[in-house]
Amino acid sequence: MVNRDFLTLEGVSREELRTILDLSRDYAAGLSEERPLSGRTVCLAFFESSTRTAASFELAARRAGADVVSLSQKGSSLSKGESLVDTVVTLDRLGADALVLRHPAAGAASLAARHTGAAVVNAGDGCGQHPTQALLDLYALAESWGGFDELDGRRVAVVGDILHSRVARSVIPAFRAAGMEVSLVAPRTLLPREVEASWGLPVLGSVDDAVAWGAEALYALRLQRERMTGARVPSVAEYAAYYGVAERHLGPGMRVLHPGPVNRGVEISGDVVLDGRSLVPDQVSAGLSVRSAVLTLATGARQEIPA
Ligand code: ASP
Repeated sequence: MVNRDFLTLEGVSREELRTILDLSRDYAAGLSEERPLSGRTVCLAFFESSTRTAASFELAARRAGADVVSLSQKGSSLSKGESLVDTVVTLDRLGADALVLRHPAAGAASLAARHTGAAVVNAGDGCGQHPTQALLDLYALAESWGGFDELDGRRVAVVGDILHSRVARSVIPAFRAAGMEVSLVAPRTLLPREVEASWGLPVLGSVDDAVAWGAEALYALRLQRERMTGARVPSVAEYAAYYGVAERHLGPGMRVLHPGPVNRGVEISGDVVLDGRSLVPDQVSAGLSVRSAVLTLATGARQEIPA
């Protein structure tokens, strides 16, 4: 059995994505009935708030047959001052096959992975990475267009608070590895320095500009106020005017995504969240199949990802 960590999507290849999405599709078609994770133990350690990711991982692990242990900051010895590394070593000795970790510090999942033989799945580390979110986004988008190969050459605009977004840092390399063209739509105050240095992506000034650029999908990010150290936008109303996705942006065939939780009327107008072209509910459903697939590959319970 070979464990494999899922820490980042930086450097992910097209073939790796295809393998994960193929297995996710098998899960969507009923693979969980075979309970491939039977006899494996998955530990969920969520040390930062989560609604859909925590629930989704728990259901995904249970449906695939795993035993599940859940820890949170409040109920665990971390609240008594135990270090993350000591907590990880304890879970390792209890026999966890996979450790799903959410933590407020970027790099926490990589640190954990150095101290356990369990496969570490990063469920969001500060402003770092959120790989399974990006995988489920890709899955939902691919399914809406008829399959993985349909992503190739399509244009997607990633809109909003890119600076503080671990989702952006995962979804951008995933889109690019799938062959998509990516543009960024954000005020300069919400763009990281890497944009100029290494990403080499076009930066547009508004969602209207993204539509004019030919975007076929708009990926709206939440304004991460809890991670902002000062005012980054003049006002929410002004932000929404340039960076909010609204009815007027939804030409025929446009796809709208958001990782949730949505600030309605800020990142996406309320009517659009419920519009048939919004993939937000599909993203949530995709999370179950994709996370079952990731846990299966991470624990070596099924085929290996090609090197
Ligand atoms: N739920 C996603 C995350 O945990 C997106 C967000 O919170 O804005 O990163």
